[in-house]
Amino acid sequence: MIDVAIIGGSFAGLTAALQLGRASRSVLVLDSGAPRNRTSPGAHGVAGWDGVAPAEILARFRADLEPYPSVSLRDAAVTGASGRHDAFTLTLDGNEQVLARRIVLAHGVRDILPAIPGLTDAWGRRVLHCPYCHGYEVKGGSLAVLATHPMSGHQALMLRTDWSERVTLLTAGMEGFDWQALEKAGVRVDRRGLEAVEDVGDGIDLHLTGGSVERHAALFLGPRTSLAQTPAEQLGCLLSEGPMGSFVRVGPMAQTSIQGVFAAGDIARPMPNINFALADGAQAGSGCHASLLFPGFVQPVVQDPTP
Ligand SMILES: Cc1cc2nc3c(=O)[nH]c(=O)nc-3n(C[C@H](O)[C@H](O)[C@H](O)COP(=O)(O)OP(=O)(O)OC[C@H]3O[C@@H](n4cnc5c(N)ncnc54)[C@H](O)[C@@H]3O)c2cc1C
Repeated sequence: MIDVAIIGGSFAGLTAALQLGRASRSVLVLDSGAPRNRTSPGAHGVAGWDGVAPAEILARFRADLEPYPSVSLRDAAVTGASGRHDAFTLTLDGNEQVLARRIVLAHGVRDILPAIPGLTDAWGRRVLHCPYCHGYEVKGGSLAVLATHPMSGHQALMLRTDWSERVTLLTAGMEGFDWQALEKAGVRVDRRGLEAVEDVGDGIDLHLTGGSVERHAALFLGPRTSLAQTPAEQLGCLLSEGPMGSFVRVGPMAQTSIQGVFAAGDIARPMPNINFALADGAQAGSGCHASLLFPGFVQPVVQDPTP
């Protein structure tokens, strides 16, 4: 029986491990090795690390844990999570079991990309999700936005206002955007379907219905996200609905609705990024430690009363 099992060893999970390791608590970080931004050549907007490859940042984070003998890291996927406060059981691929008094969920979310040929291959390089993370690198270039949800119109407006004079919104059959605002801002609207994309190195070719091909500097889209069949779902954590998908509801100590289970990073936010994951990881580590020190101090979050 260890003090804390952390599911997910990326930005949030490793930060939580650092907090707990510095309190000499026994911690096992279990990680399947697929952080959300793994295809990106450089992470941006993180002070001290701007433009550094995600794998390089995470290697440094892992190295930072080496001096703490109570912290172990393991490359393993958690396939099952069950139990209760002070007695959780995790099942790993290969069926081995880990027993832990507390759980920190830091396993991130799964991106669901539209099923368009070429899109997955270009994801994180020429197909981008966030202007703050990657917009500066394509600033001034011709930018396209593929509509995936009602906020795609806002993304096009943002990009047109502060990133480029040439922005096209591909509506992909969606309606209900503020057409007047888009027209006033100078966003071009294209109602043709997107049949395939091709990363051509210094740009991206968009193959549109009717056979024409347009080259842009980047294609932006907001993917839906999923927590289906993850440890968060298996443990029965209360979820909230965000614009992109559901996320785990947490309180100020990063506690979830299940006593003894904490959550940090993308899994616990509607609009996440690395900075938030780091802060959440620190909060989950210290919240989890407080719950080990003072049983009953950290109470689970509850469902809001229905109005
Ligand atoms: C393409 C792309 C580019 C991005 N670029 C930026 C950027 O430039 N700047 C920025 O601030 N943000 C960026 N983001 C957002 C950023 O990637 C996330 O906010 C950040 O990775 C969240 O960290 P996390 O620790 O919560 O989750 P993740 O980094 O997603 O890590 C989750 C970890 O848990 C592991 N895991 C999952 N399930 C299990 C399981 N069952 N058992 C064991 N391990 C498991 C995964 O393998 C992974 O290692 C980008 C996102 C995308 C999609």
